[in-house]
Amino acid sequence: MARARANTPAGRDQRKGNKMRIAAGLLLAGAVSLCASGAAWSQTPAPKTAANTPQAAAEPAPAPAPAKAVCANPNALGIGRTVEIDTTGGPGFGFEHFKQLDFLRDHEVVLTFDDGPWPVNTPSVLKTLADECTTGIFFSIGKHATYYPEILKQVAAAGHTVGAHTWSHANLNNKKLTEDQRKEEIEKGFSAVKWALGGVSPAPFFRFPALQHPPEMVTYLGTRNIAMFSCDLDSFDFKASKPQQVIDVTMKKLDKLGKGIILMHDFHKHTAEALPELLHRLKAGGYKVVAMRAKAPVQTIAQYDEEILKDAKLPTVSSRPVSSVVQTISE
Ligand SMILES: [Zn+2]
Repeated sequence: MARARANTPAGRDQRKGNKMRIAAGLLLAGAVSLCASGAAWSQTPAPKTAANTPQAAAEPAPAPAPAKAVCANPNALGIGRTVEIDTTGGPGFGFEHFKQLDFLRDHEVVLTFDDGPWPVNTPSVLKTLADECTTGIFFSIGKHATYYPEILKQVAAAGHTVGAHTWSHANLNNKKLTEDQRKEEIEKGFSAVKWALGGVSPAPFFRFPALQHPPEMVTYLGTRNIAMFSCDLDSFDFKASKPQQVIDVTMKKLDKLGKGIILMHDFHKHTAEALPELLHRLKAGGYKVVAMRAKAPVQTIAQYDEEILKDAKLPTVSSRPVSSVVQTISE
């Protein structure tokens, strides 16, 4: 039943603290740089090269060229530009909480998806993004990543940026949590995502559940060189009773702001259903998607990597066959 307990992030995703404004004094100017090339799909694992052949050994290793997938849809939304983020010092993004780094140009958007990976809905979101040859950032819940590692691998393989969203979607402003427990939520979340990706570290991109930003954890992420993502506009998709509502709320806010980091949930059915039309509306409105990549992957902490491994590989108590263990003695 562990899954059932974790299956309610939306319920905890209330935006109680949206009014809270944290001045994070750790933000570094110049954390965003424009990638020289449109490395749209550069997170796709590079094909294995024959590194052990004599020929490969004799030649200098070629610089990993970002493979840009060919887009079959001539009317696709596509990717306007790709930016690379230097997460040193833990920069914060999203004007709802962090106002220092105003890097988006007019009519630029960043698509972000929280709480996955989840069956049906996450693959549906992936298909829609692929159909439009565009990309987003996926802030995965650690537990969900351990349930559905294959789905999270598909997210990464499709070239999207993967970040973390705590281990269990705990509200880190909950006063019952000790400082160690808050750190564990953050670190175990990253370690779980790394485990789900087959040992490949995700981007040092983090989003606090329910956008609750305890100042000491904002400071901690700064010391860990992990970027924080609030948002510019919340689709409130977790409150929507039908897909059209997700589209209407998002477009209304976006047309008012003119640009922004959009918060959505690949975990939610309505969001998955709304996304094709929402992306059409973005294209029609002249909006361009900005891909955000990390300059370097997150450095996870060994202690938490080991905890995930321990959870994943519970020791087998016995390998005896059932008939050897259980015998009917009366019926
Ligand atoms: Zn969430």
